Amino acid sequence: MSGNPQLHVGLCGAGIGGLAAAIAIARAGAEVTVLEAAEELGEIGAGIQMTPNVARLLIAWGVDKVIGDNLVQFEELNLRRKDGTRVGGAPLSRIEGALGLPWWLVHRHHLHQGLAEVARQHGCNIHIKSRVSSIDYQSGGKVNVKTESGKTYTFDLLIGSDGVKSVVRRTLFPNVEPSPPTGNCAYRAIVPYAQIRQDPIAKELVEKKTMEIWMAEDKYVISYPISAGEDFNMVLSHHRNPPVSTVQDVNMEDFRNEYKDFDPRLKRIIDMVPSAQRWPLLATRLESWSSPQKNVVLMGDAAHSMVNHMAQGAATSMEDGAFLGRCLREVVQNRISVSDAVTIYEKGRMPKASLKQQISFLNGAIWHLPDGPAQEARDRAMMKELDGEQLLRSPNLYADPATVLDVYGYNAEAHADDELVKFIEGRERSDQRTFVTKKEAEKVMDWFLPESEKLSVRAKL
Ligand SMILES: Cc1cc2nc3c(=O)[nH]c(=O)nc-3n(C[C@H](O)[C@H](O)[C@H](O)COP(=O)(O)OP(=O)(O)OC[C@H]3O[C@@H](n4cnc5c(N)ncnc54)[C@H](O)[C@@H]3O)c2cc1C
Repeated sequence: MSGNPQLHVGLCGAGIGGLAAAIAIARAGAEVTVLEAAEELGEIGAGIQMTPNVARLLIAWGVDKVIGDNLVQFEELNLRRKDGTRVGGAPLSRIEGALGLPWWLVHRHHLHQGLAEVARQHGCNIHIKSRVSSIDYQSGGKVNVKTESGKTYTFDLLIGSDGVKSVVRRTLFPNVEPSPPTGNCAYRAIVPYAQIRQDPIAKELVEKKTMEIWMAEDKYVISYPISAGEDFNMVLSHHRNPPVSTVQDVNMEDFRNEYKDFDPRLKRIIDMVPSAQRWPLLATRLESWSSPQKNVVLMGDAAHSMVNHMAQGAATSMEDGAFLGRCLREVVQNRISVSDAVTIYEKGRMPKASLKQQISFLNGAIWHLPDGPAQEARDRAMMKELDGEQLLRSPNLYADPATVLDVYGYNAEAHADDELVKFIEGRERSDQRTFVTKKEAEKVMDWFLPESEKLSVRAKL
């Protein structure tokens, strides 16, 4: 599919968010050029969760077909005390069944490759070795972008998808500096399943495909399978004072000692890790995501980096791309201007990203509780789910009904469509007789109805 040359959108950064946006915007009918600083397209060697809210997008765009078996589904989620005692959890079928969507686990490299392939299939131009060095946007209208190698590009809209150290954000808001909210940081590590299966003590942990979380004071470990179930991926949370703000190489003795009193099965796996790095967890808070002229706009970590405890950083970045795609489709069809599209995007997405930043931080606070009355209350509240009780509220946010619907059930494209209707028609789309809005019909009724029976379809909302 080739783009509409009338609207040329530039993306600075071909990370997970930038490539997702490229696909969504090309599908909207615009011409898309992505400028990427790296020598080669790729991602760091670690796993990532593709929660149902973004599994929805991978399916809609056909990226799931390209990634294939490397998208791994798991059977159950277990929350444990650091010694391995199970205090909470849920079968994944309950969450996936309620949302009608999978919860995938994937190696970042496989995800990135899949997104890049689909972006190319949609006609996006992706240029590597193209580090953006200066942006001229002040005169309004078109944006001129220069790369370090001296090449220049002109766009109708420039999107800053260049991550937490974003040059686009520094150009628009030079005084904003992402910072760690606490001393919290994380190691990332991968161990082959084949190696774990040879260990008489650790092998028990890989008999089923599960997501495991071991919680402790100021530390936790989360593990899950990736790469068609061949690798055991871990994120190992801990704290440092003073807080870290850059990626650091670590002494492996310190790394192993950090978790020496954890579940002996997990400890055996941690001892198998050959090398690891420490990653900062930086949060970015902005009052605006765009230039006053509305011809440059930020997305992803550049706009709203967050701590990782809900697995929503890349997911939120992909949602931004999906939302922008829907807004820019209306520009391509001459129904709104680029400036309108940027305004609708900021109005819709800024509160959602802020909510995810807060929930992510709070989930970290829940998992990091020290032993004592708060931890005991958390464990008591979670433990009921182990007896199969269907809780209305749970401190296990990965299965808490309200959080699951709000975060993992969110539909970025439907949200954009609602906001666009409100903007274009001056009111929310609703049934004239009953006043039921499309959004409410979807939330309460349509989710369990077959396509032809949905209230929003029958009432033509
Ligand atoms: C330990 C840990 C675990 C995590 N787990 C999850 C998870 O399970 N699920 C999840 O959704 N998120 C997770 N995240 C968050 C996720 O990694 C980030 O939020 C996500 O990668 C951000 O994507 P992005 O595309 O916005 O930015 P980035 O991935 O940072 O991509 C930015 C791109 O821009 C390029 N670039 C930078 N500067 C320039 C320039 N001047 N010119 C051109 N190109 C440039 C970079 O090379 C890069 O390719 C985790 C994070 C951490 C630290």
